[in-house]
Amino acid sequence: MVDIVKNFQNIRSSINNSNVNIIAVSKTFSLDKIKPLVDIGHNHFGENKVQEAKIKWLNIRRDNSRLQLHMIGKLQTNKVRDAVELFDYIHSVDNEKLATALAKYENILKKKNKYFIQVNIGNESQKSGIDIDKLSDFYLFCKKISLNIIGLMCIPPNNQNSKKYFIELSNLNKFLKLDQISMGMSADYLDAVQCGSTFVRIGSAIFGDRVTK
Ligand SMILES: *Cc1c(COP(=O)(O)O)cnc(C)c1O
Repeated sequence: MVDIVKNFQNIRSSINNSNVNIIAVSKTFSLDKIKPLVDIGHNHFGENKVQEAKIKWLNIRRDNSRLQLHMIGKLQTNKVRDAVELFDYIHSVDNEKLATALAKYENILKKKNKYFIQVNIGNESQKSGIDIDKLSDFYLFCKKISLNIIGLMCIPPNNQNSKKYFIELSNLNKFLKLDQISMGMSADYLDAVQCGSTFVRIGSAIFGDRVTK
């Protein structure tokens, strides 16, 4: 059996830096698997689908105002309203249409969230994220419409050493004078921390292998 609490605590002590937030990525896992982490006082959880997150988290959030929910997946424009309402952080802002919709629903719902701009750091044609050469302009656009951009986020190319991508994202983050960085997953979070990550997104190393998705 997977000891989720123990896995989490081992990761916490391996990071050994209280400035680094661990987002426990609970996508595909049911609430009974997640609950033990809530019960030991963990606050940051990540999901990649709005509908799934809503079903799992809506009630438990009402009873635990300390919980911080992170949307880490691709966000479709027709799900923006629900996402703004449910999440505290959204890591996948990567185009003007989406940014505009987020700002619109923040106004309608009278809610301010925290946002990361997702950068296509490996310049991969199939990957989400803004191209590096468009990042500065896009950041200015987000600022103009008053989105609270707190940092950059990336998912490096598969099956490669992530480190050079983490260094590059960290440099872009510094260039834009942003404080937070969302990078590092189960396989590479220690490298990410070394390169300055402040939010690591860890799923399988905490919860075990995902059966689906
Ligand atoms: C699923 C997911 C993670 C967690 O991946 P693991 O390898 O299981 O740690 C992190 N970030 C994003 C964007 C994800 O979709």
